[in-house]
Amino acid sequence: MTEVKTNIRGIIFDIKHFAIHDGPGIRTTVFFKGCPLHCWWCHNPESHKILPEKYEGSNFRCNINHSFSSQNDEVGKEVTIPELMREIEKDSVFYEESGGGVTFSGGEPTMQPDFLSSLLKECKETGLHTSVDTSGYAPTRIFEKIIDHTDLFLYDLKLMNDELHKKYTGVSNTLIHTNLKWLDENHKNICIRFPVVPGITDSKENISETINFLVKLENISEINLLPYHKAGEGKYSRFSKENKLSQITTPENGYMEKVAGQFKTLSHKIKIGG
Ligand code: SF4
Repeated sequence: MTEVKTNIRGIIFDIKHFAIHDGPGIRTTVFFKGCPLHCWWCHNPESHKILPEKYEGSNFRCNINHSFSSQNDEVGKEVTIPELMREIEKDSVFYEESGGGVTFSGGEPTMQPDFLSSLLKECKETGLHTSVDTSGYAPTRIFEKIIDHTDLFLYDLKLMNDELHKKYTGVSNTLIHTNLKWLDENHKNICIRFPVVPGITDSKENISETINFLVKLENISEINLLPYHKAGEGKYSRFSKENKLSQITTPENGYMEKVAGQFKTLSHKIKIGG
């Protein structure tokens, strides 16, 4: 047994119990605060700043239970690893029965590398299946630090054209592609998450370039096509942020099937949703 790092603290903004779209089986998803990207379609704008922050209005729904809750008008809470492990282990029986585990999401969990790495190690010591949901935008050395304790990467690919990637996410995709190739070369189990955002990511060019990129990789287990949804719409005003996609609607099932059809030239399992 390694010693639990009681002195490392991280900042999270939510915990979702019984999650079924963030990896195999029934999972507990822990949402880290902080993200270096600012995707126009992000439904968690409260994740962007790494420090706890105030929001406007009331009744902001956050699933962090009372032992984790911060002040009423603030989102984000500093927690220790033992505190979080106690919360995660409450669902152990469900992980065992369903083949589930823990998913670290955000925000971008790699923005808190020591906290993430220690949590992953602790989960593996406890025998839990671990997933990291990432944009891939982090120094490769952080992936080197966490790779051995991560069973599955849920890895976003959004836009292949770098100028469009910069426009719609705020950052270049070069590092994201480099890290994905590195993980693939190092034989990690990777599930690709492709957001289907009408008029932005769903062009024939983008889908075809994404397929051309993925066909060269060998350790992709599955591709999830995530339809744009408006669940985060009400949050933008509460965090004084502009919602640039207020006019875009959620793609219908028939349209998602058509997009899935384009990806079927790949031999991977294609799934609509997470
Ligand atoms: S990478 Fe994810 S959390 Fe970060 S801005 Fe984009 S959609 Fe939001």
